[in-house]
Amino acid sequence: MENWESYVRKVVPYVPGEQPQAERMIKLNTNENPYPPAPGVQRALAGFNPDTLRLYPEPTCKVLVDAIASYYGLCSDQVFVGVGSDDVLAMVFLTFFNSGKPVFFPDITYSFYDVWADMLRIPYETKALDDAFEIRVEDYYGENGGVIFPNPNAPTGILMPLDKIEDIIAHNRDVIVVVDEAYIDFGGTSCVDLIRKYDNLLVVQTYSKSRSMAGARLGFAIADAGIIADLEKIKYSTNPYNINRLTLLAGEAAVESNAYYVENAKKIAATRDMTTQKLREMGFTVLDSKANFIFAKNNAVSGRVLYEELKKKGVLVRFWGKEKIEDFLRITIGTPEQMEVLFAKTAEILQEQKGD
Ligand code: PMP
Repeated sequence: MENWESYVRKVVPYVPGEQPQAERMIKLNTNENPYPPAPGVQRALAGFNPDTLRLYPEPTCKVLVDAIASYYGLCSDQVFVGVGSDDVLAMVFLTFFNSGKPVFFPDITYSFYDVWADMLRIPYETKALDDAFEIRVEDYYGENGGVIFPNPNAPTGILMPLDKIEDIIAHNRDVIVVVDEAYIDFGGTSCVDLIRKYDNLLVVQTYSKSRSMAGARLGFAIADAGIIADLEKIKYSTNPYNINRLTLLAGEAAVESNAYYVENAKKIAATRDMTTQKLREMGFTVLDSKANFIFAKNNAVSGRVLYEELKKKGVLVRFWGKEKIEDFLRITIGTPEQMEVLFAKTAEILQEQKGD
C-alpha cells in the first residue's frame, strides 16, 4: 500500500434512497412530496434572469432569513439556512458536538447521524427505543456531549409530545439538544417556541418535505442568536455562498405560499391515515405515523421479499433489513391514486406468496 492510502479518512457513507430515471416507477422511497411546489415558486422561477448566475449569491441570504424569521415571529439572528437540512445537520455536528463526550441518539433513527459522527470522530451512544418503538426520555438524562433526535422520529413516524421534548432539553442544559423536525408539518406541533425558554435548543427544518422542494436543497435551523452565530462561523469557514440563486428565489417565494403547503400537508395526512387503515386490514403491522411516510411490516411475507417484489412491479419503497426492523418497509405517502397502486400490487404479492 502506498503511504498516502493509510492517511485517507475512512468513512462508511450514508446510502441515499434510489432516484430511478424510469418515469413509470411509483416512487415511495425518499419521502418526497407528491404535489408540486406552490404556484408562487413556479412564477418566481419563470421570472429568473439567467444573467444573474454570473454573480455569486448573497451570502447572508437576508431576504430568505428575514422571511423565515417573520413567519415564526423571531428575529433574523435566530435563523440559519443551509443546502437542505443535511447540510445544516452536518454543520451542527461539526460545530457543537465537540466535547469528547458521547452524543446520544436513538438506535432506530435517521441513519445519517452515525455517519456524521463517525466521519467527524465524534463519540456517540445509541439509546434503544422501547417495545412500542418510542423514545424513553430517561435514557437521555446521563452525562453526554449533545443530544439529537427527529420528531416525528424517522423511520418510525412516531411523534413525541412537547412535554417529553421539554423534559429532555431541561435535563441537558449543558449541551446542545437538536430536534430534527423534517416531518413536523404532517401532524405534529413544532417545539420552536421553546427556544425562547432554552438557549441550548436547536430546531432543524427543511423545504424538502411539506414544501415540495427536495430538488432545490434548502433547510434551516432555528435557535438562540448565540447558537446561530456559532453556526455562521462554521459556514464562513467552509462554503459562504452555499445557497444558490435559484434556490434562494424559490425559498423566498415558498415562505409566502404557506397556506398552500398547509393544505397539501393535510391532504397527505389524510392519505396516510387511509393507507394505515387499509394496510392493517391487509395483515400489516403499521406504526402510528405523524409523518409523510409509514413504517409497516407484513405478518406473513418478509420485508425483503415485499420490497423486491414491489420493485419488480414498479413500486419503490425503502428497506433496510437491519436488526430489530428486518421486516419493516418505510413507505412514503403519495397521492391517493399512487397508494391504490401500492395496495393492488401488494395484494398480488401476498396472493403469489401464499401460492408458493
Ligand atoms: N432529517 C431527517 C430525519 C430526514 O429523514 C431527512 C431526509 N433524508 C433529512 C433530515 C434531510 O433532508 P433534506 O436534506 O432534504 O432537508
